Amino acid sequence: MKKIKDEVVNLKDSPLYEYRIKNKYFPVIGEGSHNAKIMFIGEAPGRNEAETGRPFCGASGRILDELLQSIGAERKEVYITNIVKDRPPENRDPIPEEIEFYAPFLDRQIEIIKPEVIATLGRFSMAYIMKKFGLESELKSISQIHGEVFTAQTSYGSVKIIPLYHPAVAVYGTNKEILKKDFETLKQFK
Ligand code: URA
Repeated sequence: MKKIKDEVVNLKDSPLYEYRIKNKYFPVIGEGSHNAKIMFIGEAPGRNEAETGRPFCGASGRILDELLQSIGAERKEVYITNIVKDRPPENRDPIPEEIEFYAPFLDRQIEIIKPEVIATLGRFSMAYIMKKFGLESELKSISQIHGEVFTAQTSYGSVKIIPLYHPAVAVYGTNKEILKKDFETLKQFK
């Protein structure tokens, strides 16, 4: 993980490197247990994350903490990361070129953690992970498959893949109950 961090810090050919340096931002590698059973994968750092180097530490992070708490899990027992490791300008969605650029680092993180469960947060990590693990034919819109449990094979054995809505959808309250219900599904894998 340290090697991945050093490589990302020095990623001068990243499309987001100049923006990072100009704003004195940090890349966000990930946080949590390297022996985690559950790995959460979000989209990309927002401003709070880029200012601190920690994933999900702003408004979405508070929701994520609440959701973890609702299933009796703590941040330190799971692993939390994103596909894209640098903040895209103005919190825009990550573009395909950025996802492609940073995905090999995520792939290596998955190989290190060897999670039993990958919980994707939002449609970008859902699409990337489902395609990566041969579930492309089951990929639908997130409103159709959130909370479903898919099984896939990895180099280290079988993994459950659970697409979840991004916690940002619950920042204003409305979708939090759906997310809480989906998180209940995770409880059995703790
Ligand atoms: N949104 C994400 O997808 N990731 C973060 O780390 C923060 C907000």
